[in-house]
Amino acid sequence: MLQTLPKTLSSTGPWSPLQSRLQGAVIAPEDPQYDQARRAWNLSVEQRPAVIVVPKGSADVVKAVRFARGESLGVAVQATGHGNVRPANGCLLILTADMQGVTIDAVAQTARVEAGVKWGVVLEKAQAAGLAPLLGSSPDVGAVGYTLGGGMGWLARKYGLSADSVNYFEVVTADGQLLRASQTENSDLFWGLRGGGGSLGIVTGMEIKLYPVTTVYGGNLFYPIEQAREVIAHYREWLPTVPDELTSSFALMNFPPIPDVPGFLRGRSFVIVRGCYSGPVAQGEALLDYWRTWRTPLIDDFKTMPFSQVALISNDPVEPMAALTSTAWLRELSDEAIEIMVNSSNPALGSPLAFLEVRHAGGAITQPQASAYSNREGVLNMQMVGAIFSPEGQTALTTFYAQVKQALQPYLTGKVYMNFLEGEESRAQVKHGFSAEAYQHLTQLKAKYDPENVFGYAFNITPAR
Ligand SMILES: Cc1cc2nc3c(=O)[nH]c(=O)nc-3n(C[C@H](O)[C@H](O)[C@H](O)COP(=O)(O)OP(=O)(O)OC[C@H]3O[C@@H](n4cnc5c(N)ncnc54)[C@H](O)[C@@H]3O)c2cc1C
Repeated sequence: MLQTLPKTLSSTGPWSPLQSRLQGAVIAPEDPQYDQARRAWNLSVEQRPAVIVVPKGSADVVKAVRFARGESLGVAVQATGHGNVRPANGCLLILTADMQGVTIDAVAQTARVEAGVKWGVVLEKAQAAGLAPLLGSSPDVGAVGYTLGGGMGWLARKYGLSADSVNYFEVVTADGQLLRASQTENSDLFWGLRGGGGSLGIVTGMEIKLYPVTTVYGGNLFYPIEQAREVIAHYREWLPTVPDELTSSFALMNFPPIPDVPGFLRGRSFVIVRGCYSGPVAQGEALLDYWRTWRTPLIDDFKTMPFSQVALISNDPVEPMAALTSTAWLRELSDEAIEIMVNSSNPALGSPLAFLEVRHAGGAITQPQASAYSNREGVLNMQMVGAIFSPEGQTALTTFYAQVKQALQPYLTGKVYMNFLEGEESRAQVKHGFSAEAYQHLTQLKAKYDPENVFGYAFNITPAR
């Protein structure tokens, strides 16, 4: 574990001046921990930083950034490695693994969360106080990285994005200053950090709002894949009738033929309707009548559940894996768009997808906010995920995503959700992650806060000239 690394790893050699300034560890390429430390959760990410710093707190982050500037090194940040945009090659990589503080204020209904904390920890502590954070489908994702990109989870239609619920960020800027950014302090920086990713600074901590959600009605309805077209068309008719307390999705899921997958799912495909209702459970149950009286699903695990178990709805993989994600905002679920998605997900037609999911956004997300996140009108977010088994497989997957999106072109808004893009596609598509005005404003903020693009491993925002 990185947390147990000795402080003196690189106390001799070229990095000793850096190590002597820090409380946390410095890991150099010749250190035995280097290979483990440079690893990302997404195993397709291959990165070789010049040096890795594991700060103990914001003072270490300040010193590391100042050191990097002195050595003309770029600075990358990694909490978990779930969302790599540009591999941290030849730069100073800050691993936030040792910044694990979480403090809940049950009266104010807030949490202060440090940079390395995963959502699962915030969820557990907040639930103990009868409160819920706006985490996403996986509790294994970093709270800060997720929030910087927007953050759309199972309570999004009721309470909005995670970025909308930040009271303040503590952030180290490229000139090595520790600032607080909120509605009233450095408000331009606050605007940019709410959805603009980590390109303006390194967030060392944030205070977020929590909500009084302890019990939800949630789960999955599995239907035979042969019924996918009818299920999605039925889903399309459902959406205009559902309240904001319900956040839902449908997924075309291809379970791999591996022993880890339960026998009745192994190697099989399904169309799945998923959801989380955060109002009174009796109302949630009544909402599901729409489906239960229509056709009996193969599996129906919608039930009353503690919100602490919300991760069971998506059951995202926890173990590190090599995967690639792509995304697009859909304008509508036309019959032709449904046909394209169903065929694109069909392994018998050569689909490489593990799943294709369309999430229902809208609701509270559409409320105007002073934030860089600006594709608020998008209501249907499509995400495609495929596993990577070889570099050729990665190239083929990239081409496949482009083909699917080309076929869906008439039904896409042309915008993307940055949290669901990685690597090259994230860098290429960044302008479409924002409204034109918001992107332009981000480039101006970049010119003000990071004109030399020291944080060029985050969302690819070019400083305005
Ligand atoms: C299994 C899975 C499930 C997901 N579910 C959802 C979901 O439901 N909703 C959703 O919106 N997204 C979801 N995501 C996307 C996720 O929010 C992004 O990948 C996010 O960037 C992950 O953040 P991280 O810190 O865990 O990852 P990392 O790869 O460690 O960080 C990603 C990027 O965030 C930035 N960053 C991280 N920490 C800091 C910091 N302290 N300061 C400045 N910048 C920082 C850096 O630019 C870094 O490159 C999911 C991803 C996966 C793989």
